[in-house]
Amino acid sequence: QAVADEKVATKDNADLSTDYKEIVKELRKSHRSGANRNASDRAHNLNQLKKMLIENKEALKEAQVKDLRQNDLIQKAEIHGPLDEINYLLENFESWMRPIDAQPRALSNAPSRGKLVYEPLGVVLIISPWNYPISLVIKPLAGALSAGCVCIVKPSELSANVSKLLSELISKYLDPQVVRVVQGAVLETTTLLESCRFDHIFYTGSTNVGKIIMQHAARNLTPVCLELGGKSPCYVDAELNIEVAARRLVWSKFLNNGQTCVAPDYLLLNKKVSEPFLELFKSEITKQFGENIKASADYSRIISERHTERISALIEPYRGTDKLIFGGSVDVSDKFVEPTIILNPNPKSAVMTDEIFGPVLPVVLVDDEDQAIEFILEGEKPLALYVFSTNNELGDKFSMLTSSGAVVTNDCIGHFNESVLPFGGVGQSGIGNYNGKFSFETFSHLKTIMNKASWTDPPLRYTPRSDKATKL
Ligand code: NAD
Repeated sequence: QAVADEKVATKDNADLSTDYKEIVKELRKSHRSGANRNASDRAHNLNQLKKMLIENKEALKEAQVKDLRQNDLIQKAEIHGPLDEINYLLENFESWMRPIDAQPRALSNAPSRGKLVYEPLGVVLIISPWNYPISLVIKPLAGALSAGCVCIVKPSELSANVSKLLSELISKYLDPQVVRVVQGAVLETTTLLESCRFDHIFYTGSTNVGKIIMQHAARNLTPVCLELGGKSPCYVDAELNIEVAARRLVWSKFLNNGQTCVAPDYLLLNKKVSEPFLELFKSEITKQFGENIKASADYSRIISERHTERISALIEPYRGTDKLIFGGSVDVSDKFVEPTIILNPNPKSAVMTDEIFGPVLPVVLVDDEDQAIEFILEGEKPLALYVFSTNNELGDKFSMLTSSGAVVTNDCIGHFNESVLPFGGVGQSGIGNYNGKFSFETFSHLKTIMNKASWTDPPLRYTPRSDKATKL
């Protein structure tokens, strides 16, 4: 494998593009000849994917630890989340494949019958990020397989150990006529996008790169699903179960070191509860990660030294000021950033304009929910919007007055792993969605089929029409 990787690294653009064109050509041929098309083939491939996860969970966990030092909860979720999704797809996809009757209504179409069928889109490209490097490959892949597609997967170069292992496992467990893996970073992905035509591109990653992907897709009018990032706000109301809120917010903000697309990016904290809430929040950090956070087995690491420096730069303007109310220490060589809280940051500073994607929590004090809503409306539409309150109507109020991928009350993140709920963004946080049936639909074209009877052929629409005009 090392030799194969070296070859890839020394290949120039022209060689790569020839290889990629060949892969896409083979996949297109196999799709046209019916690979992964009927229900039993789809079920077989989904079961192979399942088997691959179950038989290799220890090796996958090891690779995750090498890449991100992810804790055992994330290790389990990275295996069980996709397994649960595959099981759900296996239980349901055959019923989704069935044609849906639709009786035409227009008099001009009578007598006819109609039906809708979900047609597999064809050759799908799946590009994934590094932060949950297993589930963000397997979940869309399972969705595409359930819909009858064939796929090329491009995992992230940054989660190098997981990506390499997934590449080996996928080629061992799945037919290369159905799924292929392409490794690489910007050069390889750009060459792939420039040299090949796909029937769908499913991309998970940053908003900026999402725009580049969409430009490539536009050349061929290729449909896209863009699962992007952004700043997900969280309003903490004055009426709330404050202990539960502090505990859940510490968990969700610092899970995977804040490198979660749906982590709460910043808090809009009601002034009436700011003091007790912040005290509880700080003590909860110590409770969950101990006095020596660096030594905690539950505290992940940042993916790279470059990303650690990026996050450190977000904290920098606040060092030595009274706005830095917790944490702030960074060790670049250990890729460690301490849980950090910045109170009332400058709204124009990078920590309030850029997606943080790290363990830094800006806290903006607000008078009430209306001020929080105004604040949210000033920014881009987020991937998730969180509200912590015991007032059950507040979630609906935020939902009605703002726009976001999802609104979740009194918790964060969990909606991602829910096969019955569509997961996706809106505006700058994404286009399209997936999970369960929504994945099946994302990778399908809903095709109209209409059969008109020929035993009768009323003359009304035919010319010459002069003697019929008044009858229609
Ligand atoms: P990224 O955009 O840098 O990379 C994602 C993928 O795109 C990688 O496979 C990478 O190789 C490829 N890529 C990078 N630059 C490219 C280019 N110029 N042309 C073509 N391909 C390119 O994102 P990342 O750093 O891996 O992940 C973090 C981002 O992903 C965050 O913004 C986060 O919010 C977002 N994210 C979103 C979701 C979601 O489901 N909405 C999930 C996880 C992460």
